[in-house]
Amino acid sequence: MKASRNDICPCGSEKKYKKCCWNWREKWAAGIDKYECDQDIKDIIRGTYNFITEHDYRGGCHTISAIMHILLTEKGFNSVVRLGEVQIDGMTFDHSWIDLDGKVIDIAIMNTLQDGIKIPPVIFGKSVSTGKQVEYRYGVSQNIDETAQRVLNMSIGNYLMGGVEQGTLAIMRIIAENANISFASIEETVRNYSRVYRLKSVAPV
Ligand SMILES: [Zn+2]
Repeated sequence: MKASRNDICPCGSEKKYKKCCWNWREKWAAGIDKYECDQDIKDIIRGTYNFITEHDYRGGCHTISAIMHILLTEKGFNSVVRLGEVQIDGMTFDHSWIDLDGKVIDIAIMNTLQDGIKIPPVIFGKSVSTGKQVEYRYGVSQNIDETAQRVLNMSIGNYLMGGVEQGTLAIMRIIAENANISFASIEETVRNYSRVYRLKSVAPV
């Protein structure tokens, strides 16, 4: 999301950027807070959002979705992690997200690796900025690259334990703390997911 202050906001709200997502930190947090869902789910989403915002954590969709999946599962929710190509405004890229009861939860999308491009998080298929269903296409094709294929072949537990990225367990600790979830041992909890895999999400044939 890159716009000038007086442009119409790219989030689809039809407001001017300066009156909308220019102030994305507060606006999107408020959008999460007013969303009606189970408080535990909201705490996990807010905890993730706060981590990404405070640490300017870019990309990291594979890590964020793995962590959210474990936290949601530990709280008794039936989530799966999906991996596939996503198409947003003509951009197509490999991505991981949460599927909860068939609906997309995608917080990592807010801080992409493309410098300066910020996209409102998606909760249950809706943009936290507009509150409307997003038109992004999740799982648009078969063509994930080699890196994404490696992530797909690795269990969620091993991904987080395996040091694919530096400090993933430390990230999980912060997000869990933000969401008021405590574990006797994070390592042991994560190890319980060493046979849980992402699902490849592809376009309907
Ligand atoms: Zn906006």
